[in-house]
Amino acid sequence: MVVYKFGGTSVGTPERIKEISKLINTDETKIVVLSAMSGTTNKLVEISRLLYGKENLKAIEEVTALQNYYFEVVEDLFLDDHFKNKGKELITSHFNYIISFTEDLFTVHEEKAVLAQGELLSTALLHFYLEEQNIDSSLISALDFMRIDKDGEPDEFYIKENLLREIEKTSSKIIITQGFICRNSFGEVDNLKRGGSDYSASLIGVASSAREVQIWTDIDGIHNNDPRFVEGTKSIDYLSYDEAAELAYFGAKILHPASIQPSKKSNIPVRLKNTMSPLSEGTLIGSEIKGNGIKSIAAKDNITVIKIKSGRMLLAYGFMRKIFEIFEIYKTSIDMIVTSEVAVSITIDDNTYLKNITEELNNLGVVEVDEQMSIVCIVGNFIDESKGYALEIFKALKNIPIRMISYGGSRHNVSLLVNTSDKKEALNLLNQNLFADVY
Ligand code: ADP
Ligand code: ASP
Ligand code: MG
Repeated sequence: MVVYKFGGTSVGTPERIKEISKLINTDETKIVVLSAMSGTTNKLVEISRLLYGKENLKAIEEVTALQNYYFEVVEDLFLDDHFKNKGKELITSHFNYIISFTEDLFTVHEEKAVLAQGELLSTALLHFYLEEQNIDSSLISALDFMRIDKDGEPDEFYIKENLLREIEKTSSKIIITQGFICRNSFGEVDNLKRGGSDYSASLIGVASSAREVQIWTDIDGIHNNDPRFVEGTKSIDYLSYDEAAELAYFGAKILHPASIQPSKKSNIPVRLKNTMSPLSEGTLIGSEIKGNGIKSIAAKDNITVIKIKSGRMLLAYGFMRKIFEIFEIYKTSIDMIVTSEVAVSITIDDNTYLKNITEELNNLGVVEVDEQMSIVCIVGNFIDESKGYALEIFKALKNIPIRMISYGGSRHNVSLLVNTSDKKEALNLLNQNLFADVY
């Protein structure tokens, strides 16, 4: 068994859907996990925003425009009128469902149901296309096996049991399912957060004991810096699970932040491939740690830093526990932390409970908050014997104000907190100075 995940761009046009149909038409049994066609989830987010605001006329306009776009897709994708009509019926039923929400109270639950339509459509279209091509495939619904628990964590036991049951029902070599979407512990439609199809693929890989999870996207694997901000970045052949997990967590958009963990736990190799250039090697992610030194750089935005200053910290034990408890109560995870004898600085990437957290922290000391920060994360294999990495990093960033530094938490990561306005320059300076020999 192998898992193939195709992202939004990889299923973004009728031509791409035709291309991936060729890629998956091999003898090995595979589960094909699809994202929504590129742009669709963003449009559905916008439609949901209008429905929340009861801007029903505008919402209907947007829905109609998206529906018309899908009608064009169907025209180009299928040859036969029978399949064109089948495709149109499918599209009409999904978009009528979205429009039906103009009559109801629109809450977060309805929004999740709206967002799920993108993946439900892309998978059904591929399934119909393969049928028209006389290629046998089965479509299974992720809503029948993918589930998160009350803490929003995947329920791995449930996923395995139910996925295997669905797989057993079919003899097809191509089993298609949706990425991103799932049910929550109440059985409602939910999702694994934006970019979550990578996470779906990894969880499905574990549940089906796949030999490999392949993430097919629009770039030839993980690059040594963020290509959205730095020119001339280079693809990396191999990374360990820990290195890839750090990059994913700290902003490399190519992988959902949590997507490496399940594969790492079950030791399933993850291969990143480029749909536009299937013969390129891409990046392999596995358990072995290979090569030393700095390998790649990523950055994560929307970081808030909270500083707590207190004279009571001096020689006190239990102070940190009190701080952590507050973050635990408000289910807010901490990214970076640095301490001095009189102050603790902590970063978070979720401001939902920022007000409550700072109110409670005020009882422990003087609290300062700064938003609009970014974590720049330098990832690699920093073995104990080798020296000089820190010097190279700080030399590169000598003109960038650095607010926090975290080094030594793992052998694979040096994190720096900078103002978001300095992020692009920091990424470029690090690129020029750290990878000079790569170019
Ligand atoms: P998909 O829709 O296939 O899931 P994404 O847009 O989520 O694709 O991820 C691919 C994009 O991630 C690339 O086009 C690239 O712009 C961006 N990206 C950010 N950091 C990196 C990196 N270090 N290596 C490769 N791509 C990266
Ligand atoms: N379609 C979802 C999104 O755009 C999930 C994904 O593409 O991975 O976030
Ligand atoms: Mg993605």
